[in-house]
Amino acid sequence: MEKIKSLRGFRDIYGDEVIRFRLIEDISRRYLELFGYKEIIIPVLENTGLFVRTIGDATDIVEKEMFTFTDTGGDSVTLRPEATAGMVRAYLETGMFAKERISKLFSIGPMFRHERPQKGRYREFRQVDVEVFGIEAPIIDAELIWMIYLILKSIGLAEYTIETNSVGCPECREGFKRLIVGYFEDKKQDLCEDCRRRLQKNPLRIFDCKSPGCKEISGSSPLLFDNLCDPCRVHFDGFLSHTEELNIPITVNKRLVRGLDYYTRTVFEVTSGGLGSQNAFLAGGRYDNLVQSMGGPPVPGIGFAIGVDRLSLLISTSVKKDGSTVFLAYLGDRAKGFIVPMMRLFTENNVKFFYLPDAKSLKSQMRYADSVGADTVLIIGDDEIDKGILIVRDMAHSSQTTLPLDLTNLIDNLKGLSKK
Ligand code: ATP
Ligand code: MG
Repeated sequence: MEKIKSLRGFRDIYGDEVIRFRLIEDISRRYLELFGYKEIIIPVLENTGLFVRTIGDATDIVEKEMFTFTDTGGDSVTLRPEATAGMVRAYLETGMFAKERISKLFSIGPMFRHERPQKGRYREFRQVDVEVFGIEAPIIDAELIWMIYLILKSIGLAEYTIETNSVGCPECREGFKRLIVGYFEDKKQDLCEDCRRRLQKNPLRIFDCKSPGCKEISGSSPLLFDNLCDPCRVHFDGFLSHTEELNIPITVNKRLVRGLDYYTRTVFEVTSGGLGSQNAFLAGGRYDNLVQSMGGPPVPGIGFAIGVDRLSLLISTSVKKDGSTVFLAYLGDRAKGFIVPMMRLFTENNVKFFYLPDAKSLKSQMRYADSVGADTVLIIGDDEIDKGILIVRDMAHSSQTTLPLDLTNLIDNLKGLSKK
């Protein structure tokens, strides 16, 4: 029979990779809680309109990358390509916006984008998503960078670059749009088909185009950064001076753009050379008008997402063992009777306990004990039962000793041995 395989771009995460994912997510959680964030779990499937309206209909994500389908009820639904849109929806729908002055939220889970699969680019990938609602001051922009710095330090990542830019507000962008429409209009014939359309619909998206021709043209265009309005410039300078105070090296990249329309002012990306062309493993920015544009009050926002799959490619972990593992090797039917009482005893006391069901020989049991990383093997056979003892083998030192076959005191007796 033909085997059913996973879908292209979808994969199983197991073994060491799952341990690296956990490390990233556990450390992120720890720092997020330290900084006062609350976890929220939001749906993976949303109305298609949520993403079209927020991410923007001339973006790559909305134009090409969404898993959109009509459900059996006839509604157009989409597997979330990113989390911010859903977080804002939840912030409004739960009424959080009316209850608290500042909301600091995070969510961890899978995102879906129909992209060409390659190293670091999958159709299902995980993000740690972080959002702050209600703070306009640039100190929060810097606080986020500081938290990111602590998370990456704790994960043990040494080499990375934080790049930042300001993409301004609707006011400075309006003026700038007119400026660049003029600039690109002259070079229209050399732009790709998508960008010719973008020129009409959403000219700023041309800066996000990956095609070499368009990149070259936009590479020498006027820059939004040089045309920011005064309040946007003051905000960005404030952000930079706080990062200086914190002593975090951060590079201003005047050409940095993000592939989503809702961003305003500060945007940032963290990259590493170790990733090749998919080099960004974390990205984010401000979205001061998003909440209002979704029907809420004028609450500013800022957030970022860690691409767990990509960050995981940059870290190495040796599997750290926690606690001890006890293995029971039994010989004969009478000894077999000790499996259940020992399983109860050890697991009730939070000790990892293994045995090999249907074991045929001591040799096969010892091999299995090794494979599960047991540090103590208890051996019982008819002889031992007759004498009222059990053999205790210390796997690390290949040494053996005996203890009384007394389950009531076994845990204490084993602890006594390991202290010696
Ligand atoms: P790229 O430029 O690589 O396409 P992006 O700008 O589309 O990234 P964002 O929307 O900013 O990505 O998402 C934040 C992070 O999520 C990225 O920095 C990346 O680490 C991760 N990410 C995005 N798309 C994928 C994907 N298809 N597979 C794995 N991780 C991804
Ligand atoms: Mg992308």
